[in-house]
Amino acid sequence: MKSMSSYDPDRYSRQTRFAPLGTEGQARLAAGRVAIVGCGALGSVVALALVRAGVGRVRLVDRDVPELSNLPRQMLFDEADVAAGLPKAVAAARHLERINSACEIEPVVADLTAATATRLLGDVDVVVDGSDNFEARFLVNEYCCREGIPWVHGGAIGAEGRVLTIVPGRTACLRCLVPEPPAPGMLPTCDTAGIIGPAALVVGAVEAAEALKLLVGAAEIGNRLLVCDLWDGTWRTVDLAPLALTGCPTCRAGDTPWLDGRLGGPATALCGRDAVQVPAVGAGVDLARVAERLAAVGRVKANPWIVRAEVEAGIELAVFADGRAIVSGTREEAKARAIVSRYLGA
Ligand SMILES: [Zn+2]
Repeated sequence: MKSMSSYDPDRYSRQTRFAPLGTEGQARLAAGRVAIVGCGALGSVVALALVRAGVGRVRLVDRDVPELSNLPRQMLFDEADVAAGLPKAVAAARHLERINSACEIEPVVADLTAATATRLLGDVDVVVDGSDNFEARFLVNEYCCREGIPWVHGGAIGAEGRVLTIVPGRTACLRCLVPEPPAPGMLPTCDTAGIIGPAALVVGAVEAAEALKLLVGAAEIGNRLLVCDLWDGTWRTVDLAPLALTGCPTCRAGDTPWLDGRLGGPATALCGRDAVQVPAVGAGVDLARVAERLAAVGRVKANPWIVRAEVEAGIELAVFADGRAIVSGTREEAKARAIVSRYLGA
């Protein structure tokens, strides 16, 4: 649905008056294609900013549905969306279409996997990270490094945020910074450590600005990581140029273990049980730390081989010492993966 109001030259006048963008930059935005991987806290902000800015095509990839506990930080959704139970990508697209009818918005309710990467990312100019797990981020990193697509990584937790813009061949990549993905449960997640909405707003806003710069071909893309803490009030950038000396296997030598299926892999419904197994990622797991983190969420039962917790009503998460997880109370693979991302960050 197109409406004339979208083409009103005054619409973007304050944006084109910003000299580094200009009318030429605006035309590039209109021709631009962006994929946003994950439409939660960060993806919401990125999508709002890019659609409002007049980016021509925006694909929203998400496997989840909005919940009441998302609303303090997921700016695209409201109570009606939670009640309707529509997938986030679809609900988000409905809101965004009302904001800018000239923007082509493509909601995709899917999991980003090695098998779906080409379909979801193959035809875009820029990829923006709104995901909540390392598997998706490493897949995006490998795909974008291989195909030469610039992408923006962002993360927010508690009051902290970080943003890294990756231009393959020119800047450090995610694997330069994080050589091995952390084992499940080793890092805090929004569901174990909490998050405040402004952290997501800041990170999403910085990611969106970086995406605009990439789309208009701005030279001001640095090889640095932004780290901020809104509670401490600290902002710093870390120069990543020294990482070029480490000889990253992915961006320097084309190694793509996640895309090749050597790491990660499909979740599988367990035969005869209302449960799904999610394979191990990363190295061995410190179950004591997993137990400590999950204790913030629900009652934990632990032994030396397995830690279990009821993380949501009727949903039990069991984590094994080898990194495998079994999610009971569902037979849906996407839901099980979402639970593992939420509570283990994997
Ligand atoms: Zn690298």
